[in-house]
Amino acid sequence: MKKNQDFKTLCVHAGELKDEQHGGAISPLYMSSSYAYNDVKISQYPRYFNTPNQRGVAEKIASIEGAKAGLLFGSGMAAISTALLSHLKSGDHVIFQDDLYGGTRNFILHEFPKYNIEFSFTAGLEVTDFENEYKNNTKGFYIETPSNPSLKIVNIKAICDLAKKTGVWTMIDNTFASPVNQNPISLGTDIVIHSATKYLGGHSDICAGVVLGSKSTIDRVFSSAKNLGGSLSEYTVWLLERSIKTLFIRVQAQNNNAKLIADFLENESWVERVYYPGLKSHPNHNIAKMQMKGFGGMLSFDLISEIDSKKFLLGLNLIKPTISLAGIESTALSPSLTSHSLLTENERLSQGITLQMIRLSAGIESIDDLKNDLLQSIKKQN
Ligand SMILES: *Cc1c(COP(=O)(O)O)cnc(C)c1O
Repeated sequence: MKKNQDFKTLCVHAGELKDEQHGGAISPLYMSSSYAYNDVKISQYPRYFNTPNQRGVAEKIASIEGAKAGLLFGSGMAAISTALLSHLKSGDHVIFQDDLYGGTRNFILHEFPKYNIEFSFTAGLEVTDFENEYKNNTKGFYIETPSNPSLKIVNIKAICDLAKKTGVWTMIDNTFASPVNQNPISLGTDIVIHSATKYLGGHSDICAGVVLGSKSTIDRVFSSAKNLGGSLSEYTVWLLERSIKTLFIRVQAQNNNAKLIADFLENESWVERVYYPGLKSHPNHNIAKMQMKGFGGMLSFDLISEIDSKKFLLGLNLIKPTISLAGIESTALSPSLTSHSLLTENERLSQGITLQMIRLSAGIESIDDLKNDLLQSIKKQN
């Protein structure tokens, strides 16, 4: 990797493998699960996360996040669970922000008690909320910003400063922002995690994850990762490389569409409220402006109570009512009925998630077609 290269160039070229045999323009795909062992310290093997394609793509993502090293995983949850378990042991305590990806919350609630790992969820997203949960056995802070689905913003640098002062590590799930919009390592975060199923993949056709950090941090994650075994197939790695080459232009287009849709919805009478960190009306717009280069492709909005959100979603023709997010096609869902359906009603309400809320993942289609689709579905409801 060339240090002085720009983000866009790194997306295309960082970590690429040279085709020594034929001189092809792209990285060859090495499907071998068996490699010569004579002359290397750690043999190459898919579950050791060190095959040529895995190392190449890990280097690519590390370079665009400003990290020294990284490991690829078979899913975002494999990345999250392995990063956490590699940094925790029985008797330790971790502080999680209250607003978390549903799968992460389920992992904590179902798995941590089995290992006698203690945890707290913060009451709010301020530095004082983390201070309030701090205990003698606290080992780390875990944050996710912008959060899902309410697009709440946490001040990354302020939380990392507190962590440094108290001597604990920090992890961030940077999935919603993507490396195009936010690079938490430059703000002092120790470990950055992505569900590569989302923006890094970007075409709704692969499932993958990544953990990034310093060399010693990633060595520590590797020491658990090889036992937990969450590696992914070489073919998926190769598709991920292909995806990241267009990451910058995809996410730029998604940022633009999301902002235009948010502006549009804010002025529509059938919308109660819009959640998007790029809006001046967002309570933490100023923090978002400070720590993000773009405001992302995700937004949520509340329909007014007269409109049935299920019927509204089913009335869409272009925007697909599917789960997951970040593909180049626009999608929308009801967080209450899908991503956050496992929470109790009270937990949902405490995070501001009602049946009226719609989460929209902006794709790269024409903005006029997207607006028209939203409008035609609303017309059908009257
Ligand atoms: C999807 C998602 C995950 C989990 O990723 P998988 O690839 O589905 O395992 C974690 N965090 C966030 C913010 C996500 O959107």
